[in-house]
Amino acid sequence: MSKKLPNMTEEEWEAVCNRCGKCCLIKIQDEDTGEIYYTDVVCKYFNFETCECTEYQNRCTLVPECLKLTKDNVGKISWMPKSCAYRCLFEGRPHPKREPVSAFCISENLVGDDELEDHILEREDL
Ligand code: SF4
Ligand code: SF4
Repeated sequence: MSKKLPNMTEEEWEAVCNRCGKCCLIKIQDEDTGEIYYTDVVCKYFNFETCECTEYQNRCTLVPECLKLTKDNVGKISWMPKSCAYRCLFEGRPHPKREPVSAFCISENLVGDDELEDHILEREDL
């Protein structure tokens, strides 16, 4: 773990995010195994042009599954993308090249719930 992490200010913490949008991809959990699969479908509040959340301040209310990543929970969320800048920082790894999801994802507004399984991504893609 980086020694710098606990000493970061709120501003420095927020600045770590590289706006890849990978954490905004819709995930499916296998009820039997608990395994979590990422899809190429992104939250309806994701802005494709800026790769930012259009409802950042209200995100956790509007989308209950939307997680507020903090210095305390960053090491406990196993499903965060491996290339997430926060995860890399926590694990002391260099950040991989930023790959915005806008290059390959589709809005959840355009995909029915029963179609989500057809959009599952391989985890190593993230
Ligand atoms: S509410 Fe915003 S931050 Fe949360 S998943 Fe949706 S787009 Fe991402
Ligand atoms: S996956 Fe990590 S770096 Fe990418 S947008 Fe989400 S919090 Fe930011």
